[in-house]
This record gives sequence, structure tokens and C-alpha cells, in this order.
Amino acid sequence: MEIFRQWGIEDRMRARGLPDNSDMFAFVESMAGHEYGRTTPEVNIGLSPAWKCILSQDAVEEELLKHARELGRGQIFDSTEFVDYADTDNGVKVTVRDLKSGETTAWDASYLIAADGAGSSVRRVAGLEMRGPSTLAVMANEYWKADLSGIRGAANTAAFRVVPKDQSVPMASVLNTNGRDR
Ligand SMILES: Cc1cc2nc3c(=O)[nH]c(=O)nc-3n(C[C@H](O)[C@H](O)[C@H](O)COP(=O)(O)OP(=O)(O)OC[C@H]3O[C@@H](n4cnc5c(N)ncnc54)[C@H](O)[C@@H]3O)c2cc1C
Repeated sequence: MEIFRQWGIEDRMRARGLPDNSDMFAFVESMAGHEYGRTTPEVNIGLSPAWKCILSQDAVEEELLKHARELGRGQIFDSTEFVDYADTDNGVKVTVRDLKSGETTAWDASYLIAADGAGSSVRRVAGLEMRGPSTLAVMANEYWKADLSGIRGAANTAAFRVVPKDQSVPMASVLNTNGRDR
């Protein structure tokens, strides 16, 4: 949030998330059923001018993309993957592929930044090995869109830990994104 503040997009990020003091886990029998109890929010003792905010990563990325487009300092290509690079006298030649058309394009650049995650292709092309297992776990996010006004505490509860009375039903965690409809 401090970095977003420096970039002038802190308020925009906050508007996509839950209000202050929502960092609570509620333990419930079911989403609309009995609440066993809840944790208390962390107290803001003013260590930072930019207090934390709970919002979902896809919302963060949408806002970052919007901001990057508004800055207009470069071109942004969707559905384009890095394929290869080679050092040149002045920098690098980078080959990318348009995933829709399959067409490849080569760009001359002064620098190439590897921001392609833990399984980075750029790192592999550079011949940099990673120590340890490359995949720790495979996870999936499932998004629900619905009117949450009937769910008690949805407006300001970060997460619900659903502990059914029937112990043969597995427990589940439901993470809140905006308290309104997701
Ligand atoms: C389930 C889960 C929960 C997490 N929760 C938190 C949390 O609460 N707080 C926290 O701080 N961190 C959390 N993390 C960790 C955090 O998400 C990662 O550390 C962070 O996203 C890494 O950022 P990155 O930019 O390095 O890579 P990524 O976010 O992985 O971004 C890499 C991007 O590069 C793209 N890409 C990959 N290969 C290519 C290619 N060849 N060409 C073009 N593009 C390519 C990918 O599509 C992706 O968009 C969580 C991670 C997971 C999996």
C-alpha cells in the first residue's frame, strides 16, 4: 500500500477492497448459519501512513494495468509470451509470440526484465537453475458472484472458516473480495 500511495493509486486500490478493520476470520457453521466466534482486527498504531487493505489479487492487477495504460510510457501487449532472447552488442534481441495468431516478433531492447514468475522462462533461457522443487502445490481459485447482503458480516469480514456440525462434511475457507457481490 505504501508503494501504491507513492504512485497515487492507494485510494483506487482501497475502493476495490474491504473497509478498514475487516481483517477478521469468522468461524461459522455455514455461510448463513451460526457464528461460533471471530478473531479481532489488528490495531492500526500508525506505523505507516498507508494502512493495510484486504482486496483480491485480480482486482489489484486490473488497477495496476489501468494505471500503466494511463501512464502511456510504453506499449502493453496482451496474450503475448516471451519465447527467447539473445545478447546483442547494444542490449538484447527478444522474441515474443502472439498467442492468438501464433505470429512471432523480435524486438531490440536495452534491457530485459524477468518478471515472469517462479517458473520464469527468461531465467531458464539465461541458464539459471532454481534450487528445490519447481512446483510446491497446485491450487485453484473459484470465484462466486452473488448478492452478499444476506450474509451476516459480509461487508467487513475477510474470511469465513466454515466448520460444519456434521464432521463428515469437510471444512472450507471462503475468502471475501469486496463484501458486496464477490
Ligand atoms: C494461492 C496463493 C496465495 C498467495 N497469497 C499471497 C498473499 O496473500 N500475499 C502475498 O504477498 N503473496 C501471496 N502469494 C504469493 C504471490 O502471489 C507471489 O509471490 C507473486 O505473485 C509473485 O509475483 P511475480 O510478479 O514474481 O510473479 P507472478 O505473479 O507469477 O507473475 C508472473 C506473470 O508472468 C506471466 N508469464 C509467465 N511466463 C511467461 C512468458 N513466457 N511470457 C509472458 N508472460 C509470462 C504469467 O502469466 C504471470 O502473469 C500467494 C501465492 C499463491 C499461489
